[in-house]
Amino acid sequence: MKALTIQIGIFGKTNIGKSSLMNFITNQNTSIVSDIEGTTTDVVQKQMELNPLGPITLFDTAGIDDKSNLGKARVEKTKKAFDKCDVILLMCGFNEFGAFEESFVKEAKVRNTPLIVIVSKTDLQNPNKEFLEKLKMYSTYILQFSNVDSNRDIFLDDLKKILLEILSDNYIENYLALRNIIKKDDTVILVMPIDLGAPRGKIIMPQVQTLRHILDLNACSYIVQDTEYETALENLKKTPALVITDSQAVKTIATKTPENIKLTTFSIIYAADKCDLVQMAKGAAKINCLKDDDKILIAEACTHHASKDDIGRVKIPTWIREYTKKDLIVKYVSGQDYPQDLLDYTLIIHCGACTLNRKGMLARLNKAVQANVAITNYGVAISVFAGVIEKVLEVFPDALATYRRELKRCKRSLTLSRYQYS
Ligand code: SF4
Repeated sequence: MKALTIQIGIFGKTNIGKSSLMNFITNQNTSIVSDIEGTTTDVVQKQMELNPLGPITLFDTAGIDDKSNLGKARVEKTKKAFDKCDVILLMCGFNEFGAFEESFVKEAKVRNTPLIVIVSKTDLQNPNKEFLEKLKMYSTYILQFSNVDSNRDIFLDDLKKILLEILSDNYIENYLALRNIIKKDDTVILVMPIDLGAPRGKIIMPQVQTLRHILDLNACSYIVQDTEYETALENLKKTPALVITDSQAVKTIATKTPENIKLTTFSIIYAADKCDLVQMAKGAAKINCLKDDDKILIAEACTHHASKDDIGRVKIPTWIREYTKKDLIVKYVSGQDYPQDLLDYTLIIHCGACTLNRKGMLARLNKAVQANVAITNYGVAISVFAGVIEKVLEVFPDALATYRRELKRCKRSLTLSRYQYS
């Protein structure tokens, strides 16, 4: 699945050789190469195995200086691709690195995204020494690209070496939330109800990933549906170190879980792994302080056909109105349509974002934080509605402390504003 691959974007001026680089790396004619400016009209993607890194997704983007009629839309798409990149490959010409390229360096810095400068078309002319020295101001990593077949292995070896160095520090392993909660030989019960919402014959992504992480930690998983949960507790000789449940069953499972057993949800683990659980917990506190006419944005990262009891379109809007007893205005966005302007909203409730990578979800979260708009996700919000948020956040003390602090703060300001207007 794309969200689990390392996402690498190729950026630079039109006609600088981005499509040639994409084809060179993938060894296929994935992108159309032409001398005509703006030939890449959209973001072209290609997945490949780049061992030992594993699966990667390469994005060949439209030149952001594209001045053609469709240029504006292309530039927007290119900017969105920037948000989700784990690594940026910024292409420049020999001896050409000006304000345009500097703007990319700046954007990468803002997003804390590693950037590799690629000097293009070095088969036509070699960059001079002073120029290569100057590039070191912008990135520690500089590669030269010439579109000559015999150079492919050398180029790929150099690229992989750099990627391994860049990604070893900040890629997936660092975000393994369970690492601080369970240890070797612990037993973890996973509660996965197979209800009408479950995809036929499949297990959903947050559950698959959690299972994989438990295996990585050499702990033991015991997987049951909610209907077999009590039997599972009776069967186990050893007290489980943790129970992880689907959010929609959390209320029932919480009532059946003895006090001494830790409980959390797949959504919470997923939020901790691929986003920022502390911010999501802070956003969840806001649910308790909503007022009539507050605007709520339900944001989904993919487009899908909503069922009659769709979680985002039907259940969450119903539950939040029942829980708050407020007359709320609920709006929806899905897929790529995350609004640039969030100021109108009081709270964003985002889906689990299984189709986005960590960078993509963090970009959305940061836009909300910068706009000073509270943000949480479906699973965390459901635990608030179910009255078990404190229990399920216990295994993440920072998130729990932030939730409590924010709850206190927003209740106090709600009381103050009532007092002022009474
Ligand atoms: S979690 Fe979000 S991205 Fe994943 S299927 Fe649901 S709506 Fe789509």
